[in-house]
Amino acid sequence: MPLLHLPTITSEKSLNRRAEMRRDAAFIDARFNAPGTRVLVLADLRIPIHPTPDRAPPAIRWLSVPEVQALAAPADFAFLGEDGTGASVFACNVPPYHRDFAAVDKALSPLVDLRSLALQGVSHETDLLIAAEARALLGWHAHQRCCSRCGGPLHAIEGGWCRTCAGCGQSTWPRTDPAVIMLITRGDRALLGHELRFPDKFYSTLAGYVEPGDDVEHAVRREVKEETGIEVGAVEYVASQPWPFPHSLMIGCWGEALTEALTIDRTELSDARWFDRAELASMLALSHPEGLFVPPRISMAHSLIRAFVDGALPRS
Ligand SMILES: [Zn+2]
Repeated sequence: MPLLHLPTITSEKSLNRRAEMRRDAAFIDARFNAPGTRVLVLADLRIPIHPTPDRAPPAIRWLSVPEVQALAAPADFAFLGEDGTGASVFACNVPPYHRDFAAVDKALSPLVDLRSLALQGVSHETDLLIAAEARALLGWHAHQRCCSRCGGPLHAIEGGWCRTCAGCGQSTWPRTDPAVIMLITRGDRALLGHELRFPDKFYSTLAGYVEPGDDVEHAVRREVKEETGIEVGAVEYVASQPWPFPHSLMIGCWGEALTEALTIDRTELSDARWFDRAELASMLALSHPEGLFVPPRISMAHSLIRAFVDGALPRS
Protein backbone atom coordinates (compact mmCIF):
# COMPACT_ATOMS: atom_id res chain seq x y z
CA MET A 1 0.00 0.00 0.00
CA PRO A 2 1.50 3.34 -0.96
CA LEU A 3 2.47 5.72 1.81
CA LEU A 4 0.63 8.54 0.11
CA HIS A 5 -2.56 8.30 -1.82
CA LEU A 6 -2.43 11.00 -4.48
CA PRO A 7 -5.84 10.46 -5.95
CA THR A 8 -5.85 12.37 -9.19
CA ILE A 9 -2.86 13.88 -10.88
CA THR A 10 -0.47 10.97 -10.81
CA SER A 11 1.02 9.59 -13.98
CA GLU A 12 1.22 5.82 -13.62
CA LYS A 13 -2.24 5.14 -15.02
CA SER A 14 -1.93 7.42 -18.01
CA LEU A 15 -1.26 6.71 -21.69
CA ASN A 16 1.45 4.61 -23.30
CA ARG A 17 3.27 7.57 -24.84
CA ARG A 18 5.13 5.52 -27.52
CA ALA A 19 8.02 7.96 -27.24
CA GLU A 20 10.19 5.67 -29.35
CA MET A 21 7.95 6.39 -32.38
CA ARG A 22 7.82 10.18 -32.17
CA ARG A 23 10.50 10.75 -34.79
CA ASP A 24 8.67 8.57 -37.31
CA ALA A 25 6.47 11.12 -39.09
CA ALA A 26 4.78 8.43 -41.19
CA PHE A 27 3.78 6.59 -38.00
CA ILE A 28 2.39 9.77 -36.46
CA ASP A 29 0.40 10.55 -39.63
CA ALA A 30 -0.95 7.01 -39.79
CA ARG A 31 -2.00 7.12 -36.15
CA PHE A 32 -3.69 10.49 -36.64
CA ASN A 33 -5.74 9.13 -39.54
CA ALA A 34 -6.51 5.76 -37.95
CA PRO A 35 -10.11 4.94 -37.01
CA GLY A 36 -10.75 5.44 -33.32
CA THR A 37 -8.26 8.28 -32.91
CA ARG A 38 -9.56 10.92 -30.51
CA VAL A 39 -8.48 14.50 -30.11
CA LEU A 40 -8.61 16.89 -27.18
CA VAL A 41 -8.96 20.42 -28.57
CA LEU A 42 -8.08 23.11 -26.06
CA ALA A 43 -9.20 26.71 -26.55
CA ASP A 44 -6.61 29.06 -25.04
CA LEU A 45 -5.49 26.04 -22.97
CA ARG A 46 -8.96 25.50 -21.48
CA ILE A 47 -10.54 22.06 -21.64
CA PRO A 48 -13.94 21.28 -23.19
CA ILE A 49 -16.30 19.25 -21.03
CA HIS A 50 -19.76 17.71 -21.19
CA PRO A 51 -21.68 19.38 -18.38
CA THR A 52 -23.44 17.03 -16.00
CA PRO A 53 -26.49 17.57 -13.86
CA ASP A 54 -26.44 17.50 -10.07
CA ARG A 55 -22.79 18.59 -9.85
CA ALA A 56 -21.56 15.13 -10.85
CA PRO A 57 -17.99 15.12 -12.16
CA PRO A 58 -18.05 16.15 -15.82
CA ALA A 59 -16.71 14.11 -18.73
CA ILE A 60 -14.01 15.52 -20.97
CA ARG A 61 -15.28 16.18 -24.46
CA TRP A 62 -13.32 14.28 -27.10
CA LEU A 63 -13.55 14.95 -30.82
CA SER A 64 -12.93 12.63 -33.75
CA VAL A 65 -10.44 13.72 -36.40
CA PRO A 66 -13.22 14.65 -38.90
CA GLU A 67 -14.90 16.73 -36.18
CA VAL A 68 -11.65 18.59 -35.51
CA GLN A 69 -11.09 19.21 -39.21
CA ALA A 70 -14.61 20.59 -39.54
CA LEU A 71 -14.06 22.87 -36.56
CA ALA A 72 -10.88 24.65 -37.59
CA ALA A 73 -7.32 23.90 -38.61
CA PRO A 74 -5.16 24.39 -35.52
CA ALA A 75 -1.51 24.07 -36.49
CA ASP A 76 0.29 21.84 -34.02
CA PHE A 77 -1.18 18.48 -33.09
CA ALA A 78 0.66 16.70 -30.31
CA PHE A 79 0.69 12.90 -30.15
CA LEU A 80 0.01 12.08 -26.51
CA GLY A 81 0.09 8.30 -26.85
CA GLU A 82 -2.16 5.26 -26.99
CA ASP A 83 -4.89 4.37 -24.56
CA GLY A 84 -5.62 0.93 -23.12
CA THR A 85 -7.50 -0.09 -26.27
CA GLY A 86 -4.61 0.85 -28.56
CA ALA A 87 -6.45 3.90 -29.92
CA SER A 88 -4.34 7.01 -30.42
CA VAL A 89 -4.83 10.22 -28.51
CA PHE A 90 -3.87 13.62 -29.88
CA ALA A 91 -4.33 17.16 -28.60
CA CYS A 92 -4.05 20.66 -29.96
CA ASN A 93 -4.61 24.17 -28.71
CA VAL A 94 -6.36 27.03 -30.48
CA PRO A 95 -4.72 30.23 -29.21
CA PRO A 96 -6.77 33.38 -28.61
CA TYR A 97 -5.13 35.15 -31.58
CA HIS A 98 -6.15 32.38 -34.04
CA ARG A 99 -8.56 33.72 -36.66
CA ASP A 100 -11.11 31.00 -35.84
CA PHE A 101 -10.76 31.31 -32.08
CA ALA A 102 -14.17 32.85 -31.39
CA ALA A 103 -15.95 30.15 -33.40
CA VAL A 104 -13.95 27.35 -31.76
CA ASP A 105 -14.51 28.78 -28.31
CA LYS A 106 -18.24 28.91 -28.93
CA ALA A 107 -18.41 25.43 -30.45
CA LEU A 108 -16.47 23.82 -27.59
CA SER A 109 -18.14 25.67 -24.74
CA PRO A 110 -18.29 24.97 -21.82
CA LEU A 111 -14.54 25.11 -21.28
CA VAL A 112 -12.77 24.91 -17.93
CA ASP A 113 -9.19 25.40 -16.77
CA LEU A 114 -7.24 22.37 -15.61
CA ARG A 115 -7.02 23.45 -11.98
CA SER A 116 -10.81 23.69 -11.70
CA LEU A 117 -11.16 20.33 -13.38
CA ALA A 118 -8.64 18.74 -11.02
CA LEU A 119 -10.49 20.11 -8.01
CA GLN A 120 -13.86 19.03 -9.34
CA GLY A 121 -12.77 15.61 -10.63
CA VAL A 122 -13.81 13.99 -13.89
CA SER A 123 -15.92 10.95 -14.64
CA HIS A 124 -12.90 9.00 -15.95
CA GLU A 125 -9.78 9.46 -13.85
CA THR A 126 -7.46 8.63 -16.76
CA ASP A 127 -8.94 11.54 -18.71
CA LEU A 128 -7.69 13.95 -16.08
CA LEU A 129 -4.17 12.58 -16.47
CA ILE A 130 -4.42 13.01 -20.24
CA ALA A 131 -5.75 16.54 -19.83
CA ALA A 132 -2.82 17.34 -17.53
CA GLU A 133 -0.34 15.98 -20.06
CA ALA A 134 -2.01 17.97 -22.85
CA ARG A 135 -2.18 21.17 -20.81
CA ALA A 136 1.48 21.00 -19.82
CA LEU A 137 2.72 20.17 -23.32
CA LEU A 138 0.51 22.62 -25.20
CA GLY A 139 1.15 25.34 -22.66
CA TRP A 140 4.82 24.95 -23.55
CA HIS A 141 3.98 25.28 -27.25
CA ALA A 142 1.96 28.40 -26.54
CA HIS A 143 4.91 30.08 -24.83
CA GLN A 144 7.74 28.87 -27.08
CA ARG A 145 6.91 30.64 -30.31
CA CYS A 146 10.36 31.96 -31.19
CA CYS A 147 13.90 30.64 -31.22
CA SER A 148 15.93 31.72 -28.19
CA ARG A 149 19.09 31.88 -30.31
CA CYS A 150 18.09 33.75 -33.52
CA GLY A 151 14.53 34.89 -32.83
CA GLY A 152 13.11 32.97 -35.78
CA PRO A 153 9.77 31.13 -35.63
CA LEU A 154 9.72 27.61 -34.20
CA HIS A 155 7.67 24.73 -35.54
CA ALA A 156 6.69 21.46 -33.91
CA ILE A 157 8.36 18.16 -34.81
CA GLU A 158 8.50 14.69 -33.23
CA GLY A 159 4.78 14.43 -32.65
CA GLY A 160 4.73 17.76 -30.84
CA TRP A 161 7.46 16.86 -28.31
CA CYS A 162 10.11 19.11 -29.83
CA ARG A 163 10.12 22.53 -31.48
CA THR A 164 12.79 23.48 -33.94
CA CYS A 165 13.95 26.63 -35.74
CA ALA A 166 14.01 26.68 -39.55
CA GLY A 167 16.49 29.56 -39.45
CA CYS A 168 19.34 28.21 -37.32
CA GLY A 169 18.30 24.62 -36.60
CA GLN A 170 18.23 24.95 -32.82
CA SER A 171 15.75 22.61 -31.15
CA THR A 172 14.01 23.00 -27.82
CA TRP A 173 12.14 20.47 -25.69
CA PRO A 174 9.36 20.81 -23.11
CA ARG A 175 10.68 21.92 -19.76
CA THR A 176 9.73 20.68 -16.34
CA ASP A 177 10.59 22.78 -13.30
CA PRO A 178 11.42 20.71 -10.18
CA ALA A 179 10.05 22.12 -6.96
CA VAL A 180 10.41 20.76 -3.45
CA ILE A 181 7.41 20.66 -1.14
CA MET A 182 8.18 19.59 2.37
CA LEU A 183 6.52 18.73 5.62
CA ILE A 184 8.88 19.83 8.37
CA THR A 185 8.17 18.23 11.71
CA ARG A 186 9.52 18.34 15.26
CA GLY A 187 8.06 15.80 17.62
CA ASP A 188 4.27 16.00 17.51
CA ARG A 189 4.18 19.24 15.53
CA ALA A 190 4.51 20.23 11.87
CA LEU A 191 5.41 23.57 10.33
CA LEU A 192 2.98 25.22 7.92
CA GLY A 193 3.06 28.65 6.35
CA HIS A 194 0.65 31.19 4.96
CA GLU A 195 2.01 32.76 1.78
CA LEU A 196 1.08 36.34 0.96
CA ARG A 197 -0.95 35.16 -2.06
CA PHE A 198 -2.96 32.55 -0.10
CA PRO A 199 -6.61 32.98 0.81
CA ASP A 200 -7.33 34.00 4.38
CA LYS A 201 -6.96 31.18 6.96
CA PHE A 202 -5.26 28.86 4.45
CA TYR A 203 -2.02 27.16 5.57
CA SER A 204 0.20 24.80 3.61
CA THR A 205 3.52 23.03 3.68
CA LEU A 206 6.53 25.09 2.68
CA ALA A 207 7.66 24.81 -0.92
CA GLY A 208 10.12 26.30 -3.34
CA TYR A 209 11.88 25.76 -6.64
CA VAL A 210 15.05 23.74 -6.94
CA GLU A 211 17.74 26.22 -7.97
CA PRO A 212 20.82 25.66 -10.13
CA GLY A 213 23.39 23.82 -8.04
CA ASP A 214 20.82 22.49 -5.53
CA ASP A 215 20.23 18.86 -4.82
CA VAL A 216 16.81 17.99 -3.42
CA GLU A 217 17.94 17.81 0.21
CA HIS A 218 19.81 21.10 -0.05
CA ALA A 219 16.82 22.78 -1.68
CA VAL A 220 14.60 21.65 1.23
CA ARG A 221 17.03 22.89 3.89
CA ARG A 222 17.72 26.14 2.04
CA GLU A 223 14.07 27.04 1.43
CA VAL A 224 12.99 26.28 5.01
CA LYS A 225 15.90 28.29 6.41
CA GLU A 226 15.18 31.24 4.07
CA GLU A 227 11.45 31.35 4.76
CA THR A 228 11.29 30.53 8.47
CA GLY A 229 14.82 30.48 9.91
CA ILE A 230 14.40 26.84 10.91
CA GLU A 231 17.41 24.54 10.62
CA VAL A 232 16.55 21.19 9.07
CA GLY A 233 18.54 18.01 9.66
CA ALA A 234 17.38 14.74 8.13
CA VAL A 235 15.49 15.03 4.84
CA GLU A 236 13.74 12.12 3.13
CA TYR A 237 12.10 11.88 -0.25
CA VAL A 238 8.47 10.76 0.06
CA ALA A 239 6.72 10.95 -3.32
CA SER A 240 6.47 13.09 -6.44
CA GLN A 241 3.59 14.47 -8.45
CA PRO A 242 3.37 16.21 -11.83
CA TRP A 243 1.88 19.63 -11.25
CA PRO A 244 1.10 21.12 -14.65
CA PHE A 245 0.35 24.66 -13.41
CA PRO A 246 2.09 25.30 -15.73
CA HIS A 247 4.91 22.71 -15.77
CA SER A 248 6.28 21.75 -12.37
CA LEU A 249 7.25 18.48 -10.80
CA MET A 250 6.49 18.52 -7.09
CA ILE A 251 9.06 16.53 -5.12
CA GLY A 252 7.44 15.73 -1.79
CA CYS A 253 9.79 15.43 1.19
CA TRP A 254 9.77 15.12 4.94
CA GLY A 255 12.36 16.99 7.00
CA GLU A 256 13.25 17.00 10.69
CA ALA A 257 13.54 20.42 12.28
CA LEU A 258 16.57 20.94 14.52
CA THR A 259 15.32 24.29 15.87
CA GLU A 260 11.91 25.76 16.79
CA ALA A 261 12.15 29.56 16.90
CA LEU A 262 10.64 31.12 13.77
CA THR A 263 12.14 34.06 11.87
CA ILE A 264 9.60 34.62 9.12
CA ASP A 265 10.61 36.07 5.74
CA ARG A 266 7.79 38.59 5.32
CA THR A 267 8.43 38.97 1.59
CA GLU A 268 7.26 35.35 1.14
CA LEU A 269 5.07 34.49 4.11
CA SER A 270 2.61 36.46 6.16
CA ASP A 271 2.70 33.78 8.85
CA ALA A 272 4.20 30.42 9.78
CA ARG A 273 3.23 28.27 12.75
CA TRP A 274 3.78 24.94 14.40
CA PHE A 275 0.59 22.84 14.49
CA ASP A 276 0.13 19.65 16.49
CA ARG A 277 -1.50 16.54 15.04
CA ALA A 278 -4.92 17.20 16.60
CA GLU A 279 -5.03 20.71 15.17
CA LEU A 280 -3.90 19.48 11.74
CA ALA A 281 -6.62 16.82 11.84
CA SER A 282 -9.23 19.51 12.43
CA MET A 283 -7.82 21.58 9.55
CA LEU A 284 -8.08 18.55 7.23
CA ALA A 285 -11.65 17.96 8.43
CA LEU A 286 -12.60 21.64 8.02
CA SER A 287 -13.56 21.77 11.70
CA HIS A 288 -10.77 23.99 13.05
CA PRO A 289 -12.18 26.44 15.66
CA GLU A 290 -10.54 29.43 13.91
CA GLY A 291 -11.61 28.16 10.46
CA LEU A 292 -8.03 27.38 9.39
CA PHE A 293 -7.76 24.93 6.52
CA VAL A 294 -5.17 23.18 4.33
CA PRO A 295 -4.88 22.39 0.58
CA PRO A 296 -7.41 20.08 -1.10
CA ARG A 297 -7.12 16.36 -1.62
CA ILE A 298 -5.42 16.53 -5.04
CA SER A 299 -2.31 18.17 -3.68
CA MET A 300 0.94 16.80 -2.34
CA ALA A 301 0.66 19.14 0.66
CA HIS A 302 -2.64 17.54 1.67
CA SER A 303 -1.17 14.04 1.38
CA LEU A 304 1.92 14.93 3.41
CA ILE A 305 -0.16 16.49 6.18
CA ARG A 306 -2.54 13.54 6.22
CA ALA A 307 0.35 11.08 6.40
CA PHE A 308 1.71 12.92 9.44
CA VAL A 309 -1.71 13.01 11.13
CA ASP A 310 -2.13 9.27 10.46
CA GLY A 311 1.31 8.46 11.84
CA ALA A 312 2.74 7.34 8.47
CA LEU A 313 5.27 10.21 8.60
CA PRO A 314 7.94 10.31 9.84
CA ARG A 315 8.64 6.76 8.72
CA SER A 316 10.84 5.63 11.59
ZN1 LIG B 1 16.95 29.95 -34.56
